[in-house]
This record gives sequence, structure tokens and C-alpha cells, in this order.
Amino acid sequence: MLESYFGTSIIGRARRKGLFTLNVTDIRAYTLDRQGRVDDAPYGGGFGLVMTCQPVVDCIRAVKAGLTGTVRTVYLSPQGALYDQSKARELLGYDNLILLCGHYEGIDERIIELEIDEEISVGNYVLTGGEIGAEIIVDSTARMIDGVLSDPECYLGESLSDGLLEYPQYTRPRVFEGKEVPEVLLSGNHAAIKQWQYEQSVERTRRKRPDLIGDENK
Ligand code: SAM
Repeated sequence: MLESYFGTSIIGRARRKGLFTLNVTDIRAYTLDRQGRVDDAPYGGGFGLVMTCQPVVDCIRAVKAGLTGTVRTVYLSPQGALYDQSKARELLGYDNLILLCGHYEGIDERIIELEIDEEISVGNYVLTGGEIGAEIIVDSTARMIDGVLSDPECYLGESLSDGLLEYPQYTRPRVFEGKEVPEVLLSGNHAAIKQWQYEQSVERTRRKRPDLIGDENK
């Protein structure tokens, strides 16, 4: 599942160019259980199964042992702090990220106490597994690594990079079904274009995401 996502498009090309390394590790390979189990029934009863300590802890420790530089170990969890662009920038500051994807009813709490630096949620809903969250974190951080996009400008001016949404974008044709591209964009006046784009960013952030106003320094 993860290899197919991370093997395609911009992220796949960046990996093949060696701009960053991504390894997917199968937790089941670390279980000492003869049947290959990595889960068990919860103490105290309740629905579903919980991922057990031994294979997850051994897996994380084995991965850590192979890393050099700073490491941040993140558990994808609906109970974590909500992920956003400022967190993406912060995570980019570590040499290595370990992203633990839970399954079933989640993981034994002691794994979090022993090995996890922080829990991150990718939204106020519950997913069946952490993989989509891991894809979100890898995609949103990797695109800020030098060389992944053609120019840093590609992400610096984007929505949320400065706490504002991006201005509206247009491409050819100049008129589509009677709708014209704003005149200023055709003027060749770069100062006027920049000013228009900034005003549009502020206006649409106020309209679409008023919660972001005041977050410019995030
Ligand atoms: N029983 C857990 C709870 O109520 O907190 C939810 C477990 S969920 C069904 C299974 C796994 O999906 C979790 O261990 C976590 O890794 C992942 N997951 C679910 N929702 C998520 C979210 N909003 N953000 C990040 N990961 C999530």
C-alpha cells in the first residue's frame, strides 16, 4: 500500500533521485509469537484487538539502531495534536522520522510511553490504520526538501505557507465560457500583480478560512 503511493509521481521521482530515503518496515517480521500474531485482546474487555508491545517496540528499536542523526518517533493517532503546515516544517528539521502506523483498536499504551515522542492526528475522524496519515506526513514534508520541487517558490507561496491561502490561479485560455482572466494578470506590471495576489490571499483566507487569520507567524 505504502510502496505504491511512494513509488509514483513527484515523491517517487524524488526517492529515485535519492533526495530522501523511505523504508517501509513490516512490524509482523519482529514478532516472537509462533503464529506470527502482533495483536491480542484488550485487558478489561472491550471490542477488537490491540497491537502488542513486543513486536512494535522491537521493530522501532531495530529501525532506530540503523539511523544516524536526529530521530523523531511519531505515532499516527486520532488522539494526537492536529497536523498542519507548521508541524510539517518542524518535522522537516529532524534527520529521520519514524512514523508508526497503528491498526485494529490501536496500540498498547506502554509502546507510547517507551518509544513515542509525539502523537499526530491527521483529522478529527477515525481511520482503520495509520498508513494514510503516514502518507500525508511524508508527502507534505518531502515536497519541502531541496530539489523535490523545481523551485522553493513552488511551496513558499502556497496556501498556508505563510498562514494565508493562496491567491486564485488561472491558465490558458484567456476567456472560458465568457469568464475572463483578471486584467491585472495580463498587465505585465509585476508590482501590481504581487499586490493583487496578496489582497486576494487575504480576502479568500478571511472568507474561506477565517480561523487562519492571525496565524501568519505560525
Ligand atoms: N481505538 C483508537 C482510538 O479510539 O483512539 C482508534 C484506533 S484506529 C481504528 C486504528 C489506527 O488508525 C490507529 O492506531 C492510528 O494509527 C490510525 N488512525 C486512526 N485515525 C487516525 C487519525 N485521525 N490520525 C492519524 N492516525 C489515525
